[in-house]
Amino acid sequence: MLVFKNAFLIDGTGAAPLPNATVIISGKTIDAAGQNIKPPENAQVIDLKGKPLLPGFSDAHTHFGGSPLLERPGSVSRFTSYDYAEHCEAALSWGVTAMRSAGDFTPDIIEFRDEVNAGKHRSPRVLACGPFLQAKGGHPLSTVYFDDPVIAKGSIVSIDEKTDIDAEVGKLADLGVDWIKVMAGRKNKLKYPDDEVPGLTEKQLRLITDAAHKRGLPVMMHADDVGDLVRAVKAGADTVEHTINVATSDHEMTDEALRLLIDNKVWVVPTMTATKLHDGSAAEAPLVWPALLTAVRRMIQAGVRIGVGCDSGIPFLPRGECIHIETELLTEAGYTPLQAVTAVTGKNAEMLRSNDVFGTVTPGKAADIAVLGSNPLEDIRNTRDILMVLRDGAVVIDKLLSV
Ligand SMILES: [Zn+2]
Repeated sequence: MLVFKNAFLIDGTGAAPLPNATVIISGKTIDAAGQNIKPPENAQVIDLKGKPLLPGFSDAHTHFGGSPLLERPGSVSRFTSYDYAEHCEAALSWGVTAMRSAGDFTPDIIEFRDEVNAGKHRSPRVLACGPFLQAKGGHPLSTVYFDDPVIAKGSIVSIDEKTDIDAEVGKLADLGVDWIKVMAGRKNKLKYPDDEVPGLTEKQLRLITDAAHKRGLPVMMHADDVGDLVRAVKAGADTVEHTINVATSDHEMTDEALRLLIDNKVWVVPTMTATKLHDGSAAEAPLVWPALLTAVRRMIQAGVRIGVGCDSGIPFLPRGECIHIETELLTEAGYTPLQAVTAVTGKNAEMLRSNDVFGTVTPGKAADIAVLGSNPLEDIRNTRDILMVLRDGAVVIDKLLSV
């Protein structure tokens, strides 16, 4: 039994922080958390002396198979890129204890998730969607992957008018995916601006969500602009990824889009870090970050539910660290530091349909925990000040001795 005392507890539920809190961990699980709790006898007690204790962070949009050498996310297996271990280690060291794979080589990612669940790897928790469902001739296979046959086989389900969509979704369900990932965009992201490639029709998108939902699977849809976002929500998406991406000029968040998002209780994962860091890196590409920031501000003001993911695994994003950039950007878009911390912990777990398992420091939840050296509610950049990380009750990062 492990006990933290004198913690400044930010529990991930959105509640005000509790000073002088005690957190009791029994095996993999949080037994108790709050004030005036007496530690059991014979427990190992760590006095945090007022340091913040939070749930581990989660990254709701990542790609494990993105190698800095191979330069494309999700394109290759862990046996080819050897970088799943690097990805997991970077995440843990930055306090990330859960990640949703938003498209990776399959079935490797599913096998990897199962091995992680069996305790065979030092890794954050993994939720995985398997391959991307996309229109034949569309993004990403025919744009950024140049119709590579290995990627076509491992990472893509190509859909045209002859495809039996229900059967294809059924195969992924049988494989054990946690989510279905659909490309609802039509942009060629290597050509600017507004170069279109084939995209899935509204009817095809709806067939996919119907096939997924009847099997109990949620659907995440990639959108390059507000038009895609509206199509995705109308087709029944559960989460919309990106919102305003490189290679688009459809920037205006409309009242219709906001109303659809609210009415349908759809989450948006704006992956702001990726868009911000991409801006300016390709001379021909128009800048889109200011438009995305404005759009996220409007979504926050309207009360749209925002998920936190940064598209880590793509080449120019710092692994692990990027979730802290994304969290900081949420405060730029209008969240208070407490709202931003809640978004990247408890709310993200809710979006990932895992809030019965992790995401808050409350009794019965998995002991996935981050201890910080300074208070993120005073300065959101302090989420980076990681001193200790626990995953399922096991200490995986420990810098407490050095302070
Ligand atoms: Zn992605």
